[in-house]
Amino acid sequence: MHIRKGDKVRILTGTEKGKEGKVLKVYARNNRAIVEGLNLIKRHTRPSTRNQQGGIIEKEAAIHLSNLHVVCPGCGEASGVKRIRDDEGRLQRHCKACNETISTG
Ligand SMILES: [Zn+2]
Repeated sequence: MHIRKGDKVRILTGTEKGKEGKVLKVYARNNRAIVEGLNLIKRHTRPSTRNQQGGIIEKEAAIHLSNLHVVCPGCGEASGVKRIRDDEGRLQRHCKACNETISTG
């Protein structure tokens, strides 16, 4: 998984191309992620005891990971990441543009 929860990502395609947001959740099973404030869908809700008026709420819909690139905290580019094994055998993510290590947080 090249995108993790907490990453800042940019949308590469579609109507929201170029927009950036923070990953709230990654669905590894279907390669999709929820990004804060992006790909909003309107959902109509019926009146309930909690929300007496009902109405329309906006909610993030999952975006396919192939449409997202991690934004590098070092150079601000969304050039993608390459994964390199460090001396201890752990996969580290590095920015393709500036080679900065990209950590989650
Ligand atoms: Zn970079």
